[in-house]
Parts: sequence; structure tokens; C-alpha cells
Amino acid sequence: MSGACPDPPSWRHSQPLPYGRQSVSERDIAAVVEILQGDWLTTGPAVGRFEEALSDLAGAPAVVVSSGTAALHTAYAAAGIGPGDEVVTSPLTFVATAATAAMLGATVVFVDVEPDTGNIDADAAAAAMTRSTAAITGVDYAGHPVEADALSRLAHKHGAVFVEDAAHSIGGSWQGRPVGSLADLTTFSFYPTKNLTTAEGGAITSTDDDLLERARRFRNHGLVRNPAEQREPTEGGWHQEVHSFGLNYRLPDVLCALGISQLARLAVFKSRRAAIIKAYNQAFADLDAVSTPPCREGADPMWHLYALRVHDGRRAQLYDALRAQGILVQVNYLPVHWHPVFADLGYRRGICPRAEQFYAQQLSLPLFPEMTGNDVERVASAVRAFFGQP
Ligand SMILES: *Cc1c(COP(=O)(O)O)cnc(C)c1O
Repeated sequence: MSGACPDPPSWRHSQPLPYGRQSVSERDIAAVVEILQGDWLTTGPAVGRFEEALSDLAGAPAVVVSSGTAALHTAYAAAGIGPGDEVVTSPLTFVATAATAAMLGATVVFVDVEPDTGNIDADAAAAAMTRSTAAITGVDYAGHPVEADALSRLAHKHGAVFVEDAAHSIGGSWQGRPVGSLADLTTFSFYPTKNLTTAEGGAITSTDDDLLERARRFRNHGLVRNPAEQREPTEGGWHQEVHSFGLNYRLPDVLCALGISQLARLAVFKSRRAAIIKAYNQAFADLDAVSTPPCREGADPMWHLYALRVHDGRRAQLYDALRAQGILVQVNYLPVHWHPVFADLGYRRGICPRAEQFYAQQLSLPLFPEMTGNDVERVASAVRAFFGQP
């Protein structure tokens, strides 16, 4: 590659170890530069190529959008979610999973999680179904896929769509089927801490052509270009018309080029993440005060987070102790219904006790592909030392 591009700054230049971090290679940079020198910066050929590559991985056609939040908003809009509808989801997630449904006018119904994975509990979801339920949204917490078959059956029995927020789990699979092919609508995020990045970016995959077409339209203002579908097709060659409102959620060509290049590295990221998980699990196996992430039969997770559970009530102290050593642990997540915006709507603490306990115990340790063996050792030793173990 040309000498015009300096080496990307290594995360090692900053001493602290973040909980997550992108890996950007020389080839990733070259792919972006090539687009910058070409004819299209935004909607151009890289968009379709990225969508094709995502479809190959995820096992269903894809539409790329400008963030994971945009993907959720677009998915709900494509499913026609609006006032009077209920969206059943888990509170152990980033606020966007629920906020995007609320912004469309739907009522969010929070149900509790499985005690081991932190994923939405299908029995709890079943108990919350009403005639107004329009969607069940599962979140593949930390990268471990949800019980997709049970959730899909439940949703369809009630005439609802099954949405999978797979912001954590691109490249994972469930019962041998790839994440992206399991739900009516699956959403991905390409934020830098996630499993692959386009800086900002996201995607929707769908096993339903109509839903996907509506998503594609919503991403681009709702514009209808195909004369066969227009009300006034004889208006002229320039004519485009809007039949339902949409937004500009397009992902630029420049970022799609980065996504294509990153996607080619996903298998390497996945195996490196799995190796780090294994090393952590081994390092903590003899600590009674903690538990390590579970893996259910049939799940092939793409681990985004290393979610340690601290059982002796000292999660906050461990957070402070590790941060003081430059190990920038994180907590994922504040239960969504605890956010003041939901509290003000009348959601009370205590409605999802397992999710709330999960939050109280959870700590995300550094996990990203460029961590070295020494980094993993440094984190593991610091955690062990906190619990008085050499
Ligand atoms: C990151 C994330 C989102 C939002 O994605 P952005 O690309 O940051 O908008 C949604 N849901 C979950 C579970 C996430 O982790």
C-alpha cells in the first residue's frame, strides 16, 4: 500500500486497556481511500457489495443503514409498529432497543431474562403477550444467541414479528443457522466497540421480502423510484414519490468499503475473541465469588462482551479497583426501564428482578481482537488479586 497512509495509531500507545476496541488494518484503510478517490462517496457500488457480503454471512438479504439504532428504528417501522402496539423486550440491553419502539409510539413491555445468558426469557415473553403485541425483540446479549425457535413460534402464534437485536452477535449461529436468518428482522451495529466496525453503521437482514423492501424504502425517505409502483408514473424521468414517511439512514460508500474489508476479517476476530474468553474462563474457574459466561447447547456465540458476574456484592469495588489500574471495565447494562425517560412513564424498579440482579453483578472485562496474551494475563491477575488469589 502507498506510503501516503501512516500506520494506524496502535491502541497500545494509550496505556489504559479499554473494554472494547476496533481493529483497523492497512487493507481496511486502503479500501476506504480507494472509495474517497472514486466517483461516489455515499450511495455507490460499495453499498450493494457490502449488502451482498453481509447476506452471505447472515443467511438472509441485508439492507445497510447508518447505525444500529437506525437499524432498530427501520426494522420496527418496516413492521408497521406504531401507537397502540406493544413491543415485548428485555431490559438488559442498550436503551436503543426499546427507545426506537417508544419513539414510533409503541408501548414497550419489559420482560425478564434467563438467569444464565441474560437473554429474554421465552416463558416470560409468553406471559406478557396480549392482543396488542406487535413484536417480540430478543437481544443476543454479549453475543450469545437468543432461543430463536421458541421466540419465533411465540411471536407468530400471536401475529407478531420476531425481531433479533444482534448488535453483539454478527457471525454467531444457533442450531447451525447463522444469526441474521433466525428472526423476521435482525439488526446489527457496526459501532467501533462491536465485532466489526464501519465507524457508525448498521444493517437489517430479513427472511421476508416485503419487510426488507419496506426497510430499504424507510432508509431513503420512503422514496419510490420504480414507475410500476408510482401513482403518477407519467410525470417524467425525474419523478420520485413518497407513499409513507422515511428518513435518511443511508450508509455511505466510504463506510461500506470499510465494512467489506472488516467482514473479511470477521472469522479471525471471532477466533481471537473465543480464545480470550477461554483464557479468562480458565483464569477464573477457581474463584467462588464470580461466575463466567455460559454457553447453551446449540449456541455458537460471537463474543462481543466478556460479562463477568460478581456474586459477593463487590461489583462496584471491583469496577473501581480495575479502573484505578487502567483496566477500563464497563457495566452492560443499566436496566432500560431504570432510565428516567422510562421511569417517568411509570415503569418501576423491581419488575424484572433477574435482569436487575444481573445488572447489579455484571462487569465487562476488556475483550477485543488486538489484546495480547500479556493484556489478558494483566486483567486476569488483577481480578484474581482483588479476590485475594495469586
Ligand atoms: C450498540 C447497540 C445498539 C445501537 O447501535 P449503534 O450502532 O450504537 O446505534 C443497539 N442495541 C444493542 C444491544 C447495542 O449493543
